[in-house]
Amino acid sequence: MKEYKLEVAWTSICYPIQEGGLGIKRLKEWNRAAITKLLWRLLTRKDTIWTSWVHANLLRGKSIWQIRIPSNPSTTYLWHDYWLPQGARISDLISARVIASTANQYSDDGLIWTGSASGTFSTSSAWELLRARQPIDPNHQLLWFKEHIPRHAFMLWLAIRGRLRTLDKLFIDGDPVDLHCALCQMKNESHEHLFFQCSYANIVWLTINRKAGLFWPSTTSVDLIHWSSSHRWKKNSERHLIARLILAAVVYFIWFERNNRIFNNTYKSAANLSEEIFQLLRLHISNLSLKYPLSEGIKVRWNLNEDLNAERARGLVGRQPN
Ligand SMILES: [Zn+2]
Repeated sequence: MKEYKLEVAWTSICYPIQEGGLGIKRLKEWNRAAITKLLWRLLTRKDTIWTSWVHANLLRGKSIWQIRIPSNPSTTYLWHDYWLPQGARISDLISARVIASTANQYSDDGLIWTGSASGTFSTSSAWELLRARQPIDPNHQLLWFKEHIPRHAFMLWLAIRGRLRTLDKLFIDGDPVDLHCALCQMKNESHEHLFFQCSYANIVWLTINRKAGLFWPSTTSVDLIHWSSSHRWKKNSERHLIARLILAAVVYFIWFERNNRIFNNTYKSAANLSEEIFQLLRLHISNLSLKYPLSEGIKVRWNLNEDLNAERARGLVGRQPN
């Protein structure tokens, strides 16, 4: 049987979460920032064994900026020689213009690093100056808020980008497969259908939102995102928090149920799946340390006044797909 893997471009992952990535740093960019740290130490004459050695053996009383580059072969080729650790050249890693533009202010005491508000150099601030950037992703607050559930957020991140292996993608790859949605058996499976238009998914959305006291407006992903965003009117409100938790949890559980049906031949009704999601979120909400107390209305909606520890001991809450 052919093995399919998730395909997410590494470059799309290597951005901060605010810019739509997963917050992983590109090694090449981080290495440049580390090299900048060495240069900064040289410029500020920070007293380390390495800077002492470079000043004594390479610079010999001259500043970095006084040393000419290869047009004058009688000088030390600071920018173009392979003298850095691991055989790297400064000119390959970082341009003089970048260094000059980030450290060109002088105070009475010496250089000020303009890459941070405090004027103090840090590798992180150098990385911020040197890294590739993307526009701010308006959906990042739906995914990576403080109280998020990581595996749910990651699944939603993939779903929003259309990177889950739905059956329509297998068909594009040329394999003769049954394209019918495993949940409703009525329409062909795609991201838009599976998570937002499927009759089974709709029952789950409606059930969980009714139990939570939230209005479910539509069945398209665009409206879904708008719906989740519309609860931002109070940035840290409990309704906004719960809307975002539901959004990611439902997508996660629907994908899990779909996989169980296809690969394990096990089925769960929409009502049972909704109850499972509700109980998992109930447990999660009960364990949150929020800056504000939950309203009595929310506590009643989610049965948070009940003895969760006793229920947990009886196995009634806390079950979740791995
Ligand atoms: Zn369906």
